[in-house]
Formats: sequence, C-alpha cells, structure tokens
Amino acid sequence: MRIFDPHIHMTSRTTDDYRAMYASGVRALVEPSFWLGQPRTSPASFFDYFDALLGWEPFRASQYGIAHHCTLALNPKEANDPRCLPVLDELPRYLVKDGVVAVGEIGYDSMTPAEDTALATQLQLAAEHGLPALVHTPHRDKLAGLRRTIDVVRESALPPEHVLLDHLNETTVKEAARSGSWLGFSIYPDTKMDEDRMVAVLKEHGTEKVLVNSAADWGNSDPLKTRKVADAMLAAGFGADDVETVLWHNPVAFYGLSGRLQLDVPAPEALHEGNSVLRGGE
Ligand SMILES: [Zn+2]
Repeated sequence: MRIFDPHIHMTSRTTDDYRAMYASGVRALVEPSFWLGQPRTSPASFFDYFDALLGWEPFRASQYGIAHHCTLALNPKEANDPRCLPVLDELPRYLVKDGVVAVGEIGYDSMTPAEDTALATQLQLAAEHGLPALVHTPHRDKLAGLRRTIDVVRESALPPEHVLLDHLNETTVKEAARSGSWLGFSIYPDTKMDEDRMVAVLKEHGTEKVLVNSAADWGNSDPLKTRKVADAMLAAGFGADDVETVLWHNPVAFYGLSGRLQLDVPAPEALHEGNSVLRGGE
C-alpha cells in the first residue's frame, strides 16, 4: 500500500515516526508551515524555519525513504501579531523554490480583520506563483468559518479547484464540496474526525477530491492515522483502488497542480550543510 500524507508537521516528530511511517506504507508527505506553539517574535525566525522545511527536513525524510515537500505561508494565528506581518513581504522569494508545492496553511483562526487581510494577500500570492493553496478551516465555529473562507476564495484570483479546504468534518463537507474545492480531513486520536467517522463520510460522499491526513504535530496526534483510515476503509468494504484514490492519487493530483512534485525519493545524502542525522558522529 502506497500512502501520501498531505499534511503532517515532521519538524515536531522523531526518527522513530519516520521509520514507523515508512513501515506502514508512507512514501510521500507534505509539511505545511504552521504555528510552533511558542509565539515567534520576529520574521527572521520564520525564515530559518522555512529554510529547514526546504533543506533539513527533506534531507531527514530521504534517510527514511520518504519524499518530502512543503507549503509555506504566514499561519492564521500569527497573522494577528504585527511583529510577524513583514513575513508576507518576503514570501515571494520562498514561493519560487522547488520544494514548495502550495501556499499554506492559510485561513482563519479567530476570524479577525488581520486574518482577512493575510488570507486574501496569500491567495493572491498563490495565484501569482501558479501554486495551489492549503486552507485551514477554523476549529471553533466551523460552519461560519467555512462559509467566510469560501467567500474569500470566491473573491480571489485563485480558482476554487486550486484550493484544499482542510480540517473538514460531517458538518462542513457538503458546503465545502459545493464550492468546487478539494476536501481535506485531519484524523486525530481524540478530537475532530476519527477513522470510523471518516469511513462514514466516504460512504456518504464518495472518494472524489477527498484527502485524508494525520496533521500530526507537537500536540496529541498520531502520524500513522493515514494507514489506520486505509485499514478502516478496507474493513468497511472499500476496494484497494478506493484506498489508493484517497491516500495516493488525490494528494498527487492536488499538489501536482504546482508542477513541482518529485515522488522519486532521492538517494540520501550523507550530510546537509555539514550536519548528519548522526549529529556529527561516525
Ligand atoms: Zn497543520
């Protein structure tokens, strides 16, 4: 079984996670830039982080046989901190880089005017750079947040077919599907969607334009949730082709809109900028 996790924050995960993901079939992933928990105090800390998503993390993934790409953006939460806003001015020089397959995660956290501006600005940047956009829908007040998100996408230069609306659930899937965008579901251990609810959504909605991710990060999460959904689909009577549609072909088609997906894992280099996963030893 071939699995593509279209949303996972590997910076927060261990080498054991990379090994376990490979063993369960993960061969490709996309790491969106996001909030690190600890608030950033200057644009420079974003730039070092973006460089890590383009350099160190793909290097680390390649040691474990997994193709790594990223999406870059000013995340919704930190769009509210004036100290972080200059990131928007520097984003264009990052969006031209080969490993970047979308602008993201963008979207709403608390639905503030600052978030409105950052979302509209970054949808425009995506359109200008020929990139799709990964749009996070809010965890609170989900349906209102989704509707406002769809409105902003509709007013933007980016076609809805180049947008992945993420963190959907049973209450938001129908309206999201009507918008023409791709549909992302994050499967968590104890909140939001779980495997069984995901299978129920797939039975009702079908597999078209549906992507499933673990969204694993520094919080309570599980980097093997993609495989667990695949197993739950098979147990519920879906065929292997349906599983491959959701867990491989759909993410390949969405991020392939960038023209930059490289799914052959490069032979691992020994060093990245003088560092190895052996911490300089051996
Ligand atoms: Zn995320």
